[in-house]
Amino acid sequence: MKRIYLDYAATTPVHPEVVKAMLPYFSDTFGNPSSIYHLGQEARDAIEKSRNSVATLIGARSDEIVFTGSGTEADNYALKGIAFANCDKGNHIITSTIEHHAVLETCTFLEKQGFSVTYLQVDKYGLVDPDDVKKAITSKTIIISIMHANNEIGTIEPIAEIGKIAREAGVYLHTDAVQTTGHIPTNVDELKVDLLSISAHKLYGPKGTGCLYIRKGTKINSFMHGGHQENGRRASTENVPGIVGLGKATEIAHQQRDTEAVRITALRNRLLDGILNKIEDTRLNGHPVLRLPNNINILVNYVEGEAMLLLLDQKGICVSTGSACSSSDLGPSHVLMALGLSPYEAHGSLRFTLGKWTTDEDIDYVLEVFPPIVARLRAMSPLARGRK
Ligand code: PLP
Repeated sequence: MKRIYLDYAATTPVHPEVVKAMLPYFSDTFGNPSSIYHLGQEARDAIEKSRNSVATLIGARSDEIVFTGSGTEADNYALKGIAFANCDKGNHIITSTIEHHAVLETCTFLEKQGFSVTYLQVDKYGLVDPDDVKKAITSKTIIISIMHANNEIGTIEPIAEIGKIAREAGVYLHTDAVQTTGHIPTNVDELKVDLLSISAHKLYGPKGTGCLYIRKGTKINSFMHGGHQENGRRASTENVPGIVGLGKATEIAHQQRDTEAVRITALRNRLLDGILNKIEDTRLNGHPVLRLPNNINILVNYVEGEAMLLLLDQKGICVSTGSACSSSDLGPSHVLMALGLSPYEAHGSLRFTLGKWTTDEDIDYVLEVFPPIVARLRAMSPLARGRK
């Protein structure tokens, strides 16, 4: 059966050029980058080349990039590292209710350690109001963590405006840019951020590799203890193939990001208009304009998201009902609930995320098979019976 993958926000296939770049570092140039003989130094050189590529993509210096084992680790490192290094200054953290669990669960952990966290509400589109950030800052605030774009609804947050406020207040700003790096501009100076998280598998790189950008001069504690890798900032022998893969993925993104964004936005708009026109009682979740080029999150009234997902899967189409991490959790999405949707509306929402290998034919196919699936489910749904 034909397979149409429309869940690029969950993970992306590794780009063939990335696989090619990684392969030698498994068994040919396999040395430990800490070894001083040639084989080790070749691996070291490859890591430094990747560090340069990542830094170039986000407008940073290469010594401001620390490789991690994932986007989750980068988020943990940013929040715990800043919290513990700056607790002499204060114990207050500001974040939003729609962050990824990697940030929210870290905040819960920090609350148990005596930190206090303000969770900012968002508007009906999922936007954080910079004025709310300003009002929440106290003399005890040490870090603000607001995601660059939300993984479920695709809404892009006003990070540069928040960055200006954070700088005026002398508070560190972290942004989780896992869904944006390689897809829209993520220049750290333009965004005015001090810390920024990246995950390789969201930009056609391998799973299990990420990095944290840390602006020079930032007071941050190490998060992993052991050897002196990553300039003493992240102990453990480096995942050389993974880091090489992240480097190559960022290099490709640097060349193709803007043209791909235009192509994918056009496909995304065609899919969105098609769904809204062909299926009544549907609505877009998230911001109509300030959204990721590849994301559609749609509320389909009177049907269950899981039921739609399973029937689409039978037709070879992969989509999602929420974030990859919560799609096995039957509770309604915390993000959709934060927008003001009812639990029943949150359960009736579906996320389509497009990517590099999405074609016009894929969109045609989805628009052909999706409306009859919804019609079939509505015909069986007690929820749909009373509707006009
Ligand atoms: N942050 C966001 C916004 C994400 O979408 C994800 C993954 O879905 C993560 C963090 C976690 O990244 P990783 O899968 O590399 O741990």
